[in-house]
Amino acid sequence: MSVWLALFILTLAALVWLHYRWRQRFAELQSQRTADLDALRQRQQQTTLEAQAQQKILFDSMLEGLLLLDRTKKIYLANRAFKNLFDLKVELRGKTVVETLRLHELDELLKRVESEKQVLDYVIRLPEMNERWLQVNAAAITNGAGEREGTILVFHDLTRLKQLERQREEFVANVSHELRTPLSLIKGYVETLLDGARDNPEVTERFLKTIERNANRLDLLIQDLLTISALESGRMKLDLQPVNLRALAERVLNDLHSKAEGKGTRLVCEMSELVASADPHRLDQVFANLVDNAIKYGRMNGMVTVGGKKLADGRIEIFVRDDGPGIPPEALDRVFERFYRVDKARSRDQGGTGLGLSIVKHIIHAHNGEVRAESEPGKGATFYCTLPSRD
Ligand code: ADP
Repeated sequence: MSVWLALFILTLAALVWLHYRWRQRFAELQSQRTADLDALRQRQQQTTLEAQAQQKILFDSMLEGLLLLDRTKKIYLANRAFKNLFDLKVELRGKTVVETLRLHELDELLKRVESEKQVLDYVIRLPEMNERWLQVNAAAITNGAGEREGTILVFHDLTRLKQLERQREEFVANVSHELRTPLSLIKGYVETLLDGARDNPEVTERFLKTIERNANRLDLLIQDLLTISALESGRMKLDLQPVNLRALAERVLNDLHSKAEGKGTRLVCEMSELVASADPHRLDQVFANLVDNAIKYGRMNGMVTVGGKKLADGRIEIFVRDDGPGIPPEALDRVFERFYRVDKARSRDQGGTGLGLSIVKHIIHAHNGEVRAESEPGKGATFYCTLPSRD
């Protein structure tokens, strides 16, 4: 009997011990599982954060503005380019497009996306923001079941393109106008000659001289246009070499000597012994244009001075100064624009094309230099150009 009892107790003890071990093992497994789950969750969180960060980097590196709206039309994501386009500094998530931008064109676009699912090449003009032009492509985002999840809008800044388009149109209009004036004069005089004026030799001589003058003007205009076009397209290669500026200035003054004499203008060379690294032919054009203008727009019996010095930063600065009526302050920057003239009639009378200073600016910019004009009205104008020194 005592053997059976002992066996029973032993079995019971073994069972209790087994149960206890199993519970212990189960608890171990349970906590192991919880730890694994925690680690997995953390890894998932980390991966999501990394994916979100990468997505943000990707979206923020886009040149186009990107806007994602959720199904209630609230902003879910707006990238950096979008915020820059509209100069927005605040957090946009959760706001509506209407309250953020207050653009009725965008409301209209969103309504169209509702019905059409996709709207491409929608152009918005923003007159109050320095006349900006935006092209927007918008599309509805749907899930696998075809349900509406939100809207994606991509904004492309067209302002630069529109500006270039407008500049080109203005340029073509200006060129046509400039060409038409001498051409219509030539046509008019030829017609008058053909109509009988040629019977009078004196009149014929006078008319032919006018025709010749206007033909020369056309020729000059076309030459200047070709120069501008080559300079602006970057097709013109500079033949850089050491240029003795004093010798070059003296040569230009000599070439323009008889023109100056006709107006009683005294030409003075104050150029130091400077050597620039430049294209001599192009630099010749710069000096000739500036001195020619100084004589043309300077006063009768005035003085035109050409000079230059080395600046503290090592560059060379040349100048052409006159003591004529000068340039009004508001026109100082504009005189370098194509076809800009302070006094249109005067410039044309003097045979100007309105392109001389624009050519000067392009040539100096091609040498990595800068141009500027200073003037005290009534006392004269001075034009400055910087150039790289040879050393
Ligand atoms: P243009 O062929 O008319 O001379 P430019 O481009 O050389 O064209 O010059 C543009 C305008 O700048 C001129 O029409 C003139 O009004 C003004 N200008 C240029 N140089 C001078 C100067 N030295 N003094 C006064 N006005 C000047």
